[in-house]
Amino acid sequence: MSWNFDNSYARELEGLYAPWQLDPPEDPQLLAFNRALADRLGLPLGEASDDERARLLSGAALPPGAEPIALAYSGHQFGHFSPQLGDGRALLLGEVIAPDGQRFDLQLKGSGRTPFSRNGDGKLVLGPALREYLVSEAMAALGIRTTRALSVVTTGERVFRQGFHPGAVLLRVGASHLRVGSFEYAVAHHGAEQVRKLADYAIARHYPAAAEAPNPYLALLESVMDAQIALVASWMHVGFIHGVMNTDNVTISGETIDFGPCAFMDRYSAETVYSSIDEGGRYAYANQPNICRWNMARLGSALAPVIVEEDKDGIDAANALLGAFPSRYHAAWLAGMRRKLGLAGEQEGDLDLAAQLLMAMEGQQVDFTLFFRNLARVPDGGRQEIAAMFGDPARIAAWLDHWLERIATDEMPASKREAAMNAANPLYVSRNQKVEEALKAAEEGDMAPFEKLLDIVRNPFEERAGLYDYTLPAPAGSPAYVTYCGT
Ligand code: AMP
Ligand code: MG
Repeated sequence: MSWNFDNSYARELEGLYAPWQLDPPEDPQLLAFNRALADRLGLPLGEASDDERARLLSGAALPPGAEPIALAYSGHQFGHFSPQLGDGRALLLGEVIAPDGQRFDLQLKGSGRTPFSRNGDGKLVLGPALREYLVSEAMAALGIRTTRALSVVTTGERVFRQGFHPGAVLLRVGASHLRVGSFEYAVAHHGAEQVRKLADYAIARHYPAAAEAPNPYLALLESVMDAQIALVASWMHVGFIHGVMNTDNVTISGETIDFGPCAFMDRYSAETVYSSIDEGGRYAYANQPNICRWNMARLGSALAPVIVEEDKDGIDAANALLGAFPSRYHAAWLAGMRRKLGLAGEQEGDLDLAAQLLMAMEGQQVDFTLFFRNLARVPDGGRQEIAAMFGDPARIAAWLDHWLERIATDEMPASKREAAMNAANPLYVSRNQKVEEALKAAEEGDMAPFEKLLDIVRNPFEERAGLYDYTLPAPAGSPAYVTYCGT
């Protein structure tokens, strides 16, 4: 087996990246390696020693066929346009073609300074590298589209972030690293011709059917919008808060990317924010769909020059498409909520039923994940347990009656409901306090808690003995959980 690289981005998109050199780490040590993913990609690492793996996966050695480049992109950060971002601490090694023909980017993250580093050091520290590994694996196991982590290698360096921490390099695998910010860069720095080139590339790579549409660029916008709607709806269903939905962190492929300040919400509140820098709550839990729509409007603006070149009325069509965002989003959200609520059929009042549940939970300190597992047991007499989750049990009583009436008229046989709900509602997510424990131990040299948690979140739906502690939110009255971007 060899490395099956085919570096189409470097070949076709000159002007949208800088070729760059590896910056070999001093003492690469392999800490985490995703063997199943390496095999799925067809990488020749199965027989390699940990030492060889550490070198190839950290930038100490160049895998044959890799051509390191730093991608250029812009981005709206918290609503403000930054024309010059780009891979400041990442390097694209290239694209590998897996045995099934699928194409994947391999990207080193934390591999040193690049022409886009601005004032940054180009480094990543161990905690955030492991956090991305863990949470992206959790997301994949939940069936949510996401970039994946192939490995984490410590570099032997100490990196300064509010004190010194072990430096690390993460190897990230994704369908691509094209983002909304890539298009914003193309239009801001090069103009319509480069946007067209990038759009044609994105269509060929991710949405080939769009090439056949009357206006391929409008069709691209629509495809990305639908993919992002599906993605954000799936986040909402599991209580995932991304934390930094800037346009440079919004993929064209529809995968979750950039696990900086993200977290799973435990006690439900629509306004939940964990990120230390999100002071205005722009990226709060319930605001994620609105921001997704705003981000799709930014993509629409970047594509506008080529949309109108194809069709002078194309902007009206793009606006009409963006206008359809709320109804499409609600349809995607409702479809997932029906699965969570054990409904196989579709009835008129379902949207209200789902929305009223969230209203009932607000302010009640109810754990979002556990609620749905407990709900599945209500028809068999688990009503007390659900009521006990609420500060004021009266808040949920009427809703439960409503739900019991609704399921009584549903197509799904009652005997199938609990299993169906448990297949849609995870029992194990990467609980914030467990993540912190695991990362702290890892920094002190003990990888066992990380490995245990990784194993748990990789199998999120099936209850296993002895893991009760991993199903619980942080104890009531714990200090508010805070996450950081400065990774
Ligand atoms: P992020 O918050 O990870 O989406 O990063 C936003 C931008 O800042 C991207 O262009 C990153 O490459 C850049 N950046 C973040 N951290 C660093 C760092 N330590 N060194 C250089 N660039 C960085
Ligand atoms: Mg980013």
